[in-house]
Amino acid sequence: MRAFKIIRGGRLLDAGARAAPLRDILIRDGAILEIGAPGLNAPDDAEIVDASRHLLHPGLVNGHTHGTGALTRGYRDRFNLELLLLATPARFANQTLEMKYLNTYLGAVEMAMKGCTLAFDLTFGLPVASIEELEAMGQAYRDAGIRAVMAPMLADTTFYRGIPGLVESLPDDLRALAKIDGAPATDRVLALMDEALKRWPHDRDHVKLGIAPTIPLVCSDELMLGCDRLAREHGTVIQSHIGEAKMQAISAIAKYGKTMLAHVDDLGVLGPHFSIAHGIWLDDDDLRRVADRGSFISHNAGSNMRLGSGIADARKMLEFGINLAIGTDGAVSSDNQNMYEAMRAAGQVAAVRQPDHRRWLTAPEIIDAATRGGAQMAGFDHVGAIAPGKRADIVFLSLDHPNWMPINDPATQLVFAEDATAVRHVMVDGTFIVRDGRHLASDMASLADKAEAARDRMLELNAAEIAKVEKLEEAVTGFCRGLSMKPYRVERYAAFPCGCDEASGFAATPG
Ligand SMILES: [Zn+2]
Repeated sequence: MRAFKIIRGGRLLDAGARAAPLRDILIRDGAILEIGAPGLNAPDDAEIVDASRHLLHPGLVNGHTHGTGALTRGYRDRFNLELLLLATPARFANQTLEMKYLNTYLGAVEMAMKGCTLAFDLTFGLPVASIEELEAMGQAYRDAGIRAVMAPMLADTTFYRGIPGLVESLPDDLRALAKIDGAPATDRVLALMDEALKRWPHDRDHVKLGIAPTIPLVCSDELMLGCDRLAREHGTVIQSHIGEAKMQAISAIAKYGKTMLAHVDDLGVLGPHFSIAHGIWLDDDDLRRVADRGSFISHNAGSNMRLGSGIADARKMLEFGINLAIGTDGAVSSDNQNMYEAMRAAGQVAAVRQPDHRRWLTAPEIIDAATRGGAQMAGFDHVGAIAPGKRADIVFLSLDHPNWMPINDPATQLVFAEDATAVRHVMVDGTFIVRDGRHLASDMASLADKAEAARDRMLELNAAEIAKVEKLEEAVTGFCRGLSMKPYRVERYAAFPCGCDEASGFAATPG
């Protein structure tokens, strides 16, 4: 392969200037060497890539997803976080190494085809996945051609024990069905994580291992502190779901006597290596702490709406000086892995929070979060922008597409008009992984067959557990709904409490 490439004739997005001037890009060994006006000098033997009639933008960064969920995507509607947390241990069980690889690969291929070149993936935890399986899932990203942080979701407490009062609320017959105990021991989880970090075989510029104490309510303080120690020892990043659902915010006050975020901060684990997924139910003091520690928030507006979790105040996060990323969340909670949709959702939902349009998110702010912000959060400083010194992770959008006829404000159009249908080519390290809309490493028909077969096998093996969990749904959601109906220090529902239909008895549902 020739060392030099020159991309000629493309229009390079300058989101801040809301412009897309014609620019040539010179690449050497997969890194961007120089950007200049059309006719930029290049070595004679440089391979020429024709980008005429294309808009070029940096590969998007998915700040929060779960490679665990591709095989369960879109399996039900009217799905909230408690239903998801209740269902997933049964739904995700009994997966072979091949199934776990397939889950991860499917998500990675979808992201690649939709213009995303780096994902922060909270994957199967240890010991749910073995270290070998974790390494195979890392290989799935390598094979799909995109970058990732793979962070196993760790816990040493069950979902049931993580919500104070839930177990006690269950009648005896249901309590007998629920897997109330049996979470892995803290030291075992930490020992596996340590070993996985030590022997991680993949090039860390492409796929590195992170750590995800998944939700503080299901992680003991010892586990949170152990994760922090390992992250510092191995120089990697942490992500945790904090302030996602109101029932969790209320549960945290009951458990800690303070907010979830304040508890985590008081443990001393926040820092620039720490990111928060969702951050919906954070109050001003929480947000100030996040900003003071230099931590990040992945704003997952589409998922937050899909699961009815609430509307995060992203403007306030920016005002406090918090570093933002944008995420889709996993396929089980938010179906597709389309970062253009995630950006659009962030823009739209900012507008329904308040009538003052000056406080809505701007398109350049959203694009910055979905590129530079996410890359910084992942600790991937070598990507996130099309600029000299960065790796050449570049998306080529066809301008011969209705989304771009005509080009008005390219930043606004990228956020609100683009939906991944104009994605024509995607390159990582200056090499095409998607060409003419096709993911080069994949045979789609064979992938679809594998996905159908794996789903059938999973449903067969897990049918008995899924049936048990379904019996628990009404009691568990009733309890959690009771928590969500309580007043909290901030309000993040679109309508509360007046939006609740009293005639339906919803507001009066006993907790
Ligand atoms: Zn998540």
